[in-house]
Amino acid sequence: MDHETQEKRERLHHNLINMWNFYDEVEQYVGDKGESQDIPDFSSYVQSVIKEPKDQFIETIEISNIHQLASLIKSCSRCPLSEKRTHAVPGEGVINAKVMIIGEGPGGSEDVAGIPFVGEAGVYLESWLKAISLNRKENVFITNVVKCRPPLNRDPENSELTTCFPFLEKQIALIKPEAILCLGKVASNHILGKKGTLSSLRGQFYNYHSIPLLVTYHPSAVLRNESLKGAVWQDLQMLAGFLNLPIKRKGSS
Ligand code: SF4
Repeated sequence: MDHETQEKRERLHHNLINMWNFYDEVEQYVGDKGESQDIPDFSSYVQSVIKEPKDQFIETIEISNIHQLASLIKSCSRCPLSEKRTHAVPGEGVINAKVMIIGEGPGGSEDVAGIPFVGEAGVYLESWLKAISLNRKENVFITNVVKCRPPLNRDPENSELTTCFPFLEKQIALIKPEAILCLGKVASNHILGKKGTLSSLRGQFYNYHSIPLLVTYHPSAVLRNESLKGAVWQDLQMLAGFLNLPIKRKGSS
C-alpha cells in the first residue's frame, strides 16, 4: 500500500473511533444506556471508503485496444522472462473469435517469429482446428498465458503467470470469444484457478466470466504421446458440437 493511502486510512480510522467514543459518552449522559459499548472494527469500512489507487500499468491496460495491448506486450519488461526473449508474442487472430485458444507460452520458433504456434506443435494445432472448421485467419484467436518464452521451455513460474495475466484478461475482454479452449495443464490450472491433472479437468465446460471454457492436451504433449490423440479428438468434437461447427473428415475439403 502506498504511503498516502495508508495515512488517509489511519486518519479516517482515528476519527471514526473518536466519533464513536464521543457518541458513546453522550448516550451515557443523556440516554438510558448503562454501560459503554465496545468499539466496533472499522477496518473493512475504512478500506472500502479509501481504496488503493490503481496501478498505472493496470490503468493503461484497461483503456487499451487490441493493437495498443500488443504494443504494450512487445515492450513489456515486468517479469524476468523479458530478459532472454527474442520477441514477446502477443497473439494472433480475429476479434469476436468463435474460439480463443490459450496455450502455455511461446516456444523457440514462436520466440524467433513473434507469432504464436508456428513450430511443429503449431502445425499440428492447425490440423486440429481445420478438422472442426476453424482457422486463425477467420474465426480464432491464439495466444498464451505468458507472452515471452520461458528459458529452455520450462514451465512458467507462478509469479510470471500472475504478472502477465492482466494482458490475457484484457485480450479475452476485447476478443469476446464464443468459447475458450485451453491447451495443457499449466494454462488450464492458472486460468481456472484450480490445481488438477489435465485428465481430471477435461471433458466438461467451465464458466469463465460467462464464457464457456474447455481444456484439452497441449499439441506438444500429443506429439510426444500419441495415445492422447483420442482424448483430444473427443474434446474437439465436444467443442464443435457446442458451437455448431461442421466436422471435417479426412479427405474432405
Ligand atoms: S511474460 Fe508477460 S509480464 Fe513477463 S515480460 Fe513478457 S509480456 Fe511482460
